Amino acid sequence: MPKSMKRDTITPTVRTAPPGPNARRWAKYHMKHAAHATYFYDFVWDRSAPAIGPFCTDVDGNVILDFANHVASSPLGYNHPELVALSRKLASIDPDRYAGTDFIGAWGRDPAVSDVPTPSHLHYKLMEITKPFGFNVAFFSNTGAEAVENAIKICYDYRRNYGYGICFYGAFHGRTLGALSLNRSRRVQRDWYPQIPRIIDLPYCRCLGPCDCGWKIYSIRRKGVISRLTQILDPDIGLIGPEEVAYIIIEPVLGEGGYDLPKPDFIREVGEIARDNGIPLICDEIQSGLGRTGKWWACEHFNIRPDIITSAKALRIGATLGRKEIFPQEEKRISSTWGEGNAISTAVGYQTIKIIQKENLLQNATKMGEYFLDGLRNLQSKYQFVHDVRGLGLMDAISVTSDRTRNRIITGALQQGLLIIGCGFESIRFLPPLDVKKREIDLALNILDDVLNHL
Ligand code: PLP
Repeated sequence: MPKSMKRDTITPTVRTAPPGPNARRWAKYHMKHAAHATYFYDFVWDRSAPAIGPFCTDVDGNVILDFANHVASSPLGYNHPELVALSRKLASIDPDRYAGTDFIGAWGRDPAVSDVPTPSHLHYKLMEITKPFGFNVAFFSNTGAEAVENAIKICYDYRRNYGYGICFYGAFHGRTLGALSLNRSRRVQRDWYPQIPRIIDLPYCRCLGPCDCGWKIYSIRRKGVISRLTQILDPDIGLIGPEEVAYIIIEPVLGEGGYDLPKPDFIREVGEIARDNGIPLICDEIQSGLGRTGKWWACEHFNIRPDIITSAKALRIGATLGRKEIFPQEEKRISSTWGEGNAISTAVGYQTIKIIQKENLLQNATKMGEYFLDGLRNLQSKYQFVHDVRGLGLMDAISVTSDRTRNRIITGALQQGLLIIGCGFESIRFLPPLDVKKREIDLALNILDDVLNHL
């Protein structure tokens, strides 16, 4: 096992092919009482061992280059010195979670001079990075699913209408009963679970050329091509009136569903229809937000103006963000014991945003994203079975010809020390940290090249 790591020189090194004996032992020990969930058994991270940037150590002493990024929830990679220092400062207090929606947890007498960021400070920080949307309110919860759950509750309350919700094919919004009702990526997430009524799903158009996914249709009555959303809300040929819709929820880039980019015309039209009809538009940025795509929010790439943004993962805490007039005016309509009182997570979330600002990591994500995508396109030109390369900033993916091939690539990459994960059915997603360096991307591309070459 390495005794320490220097980010500039460390390389992925596999001494015992994963899963090694210690990884197997840990997996067996863990799974004795763990519920079946979404575990990836071959990689067991040793939290007591050295890790820096995108590099960490597994329990068998292998140095792993991590381009899975804890599924977008570790935007600065491992052990960013400022985050480690902050966590140390906070480690001395107990409890690190308090009833924060019931009691305000301050640090010192004056918020203006507090040397530790509190949940209140995170509110302000989030307002800075949602300025283009005029947001002025944040509500924290424990997970992404809860951020979505609260977003739709807020819309149901605001609209007080028939409560239709509109979502899109391929979507993943979480696993609580409300959020899972909006999922359209895999059956396993929804089968047999009761779901909220009046959810309408529509195609998520990712067509590169003329639309053939069903989003655009020819209407005889309208004598032309219109979108499905226009059709559904049309006063003559539609199914419901816009005043009956509580919200439209969309991922500006599909996450679990396959890292697909929306056709710009499609997402722009969704935004315009929502705005013109006064329907709240929720952008679920739990995977795509906080700089991952090179902008604070992926929706900014498409010029749409959400009424609510949901954030989590990279922020370390669930957050539902918007404008005060949409949120319930009445007390006790929304609340969460720990959401607003999670001292470590909110401090780390605050500091993460500050580091992204200070180190210009939006620019880095854009620049390194282009560099990485170029490298992936080179691989595509070499290997026929890579049939698509796509991405925005550092939210990138390839598709291959089958899920079997995809799984072989993921396993082969880990055997050489590169950790990557799948999404959709035949895709692999890549999520390096936002401060990834050219050298680290080259290391990943070299491993991928070798794995693809030996398939
Ligand atoms: N929404 C999106 C877009 C996600 O990617 C996820 C998680 O993958 C969620 C919601 C749910 O977040 P959590 O797992 O924190 O509940």
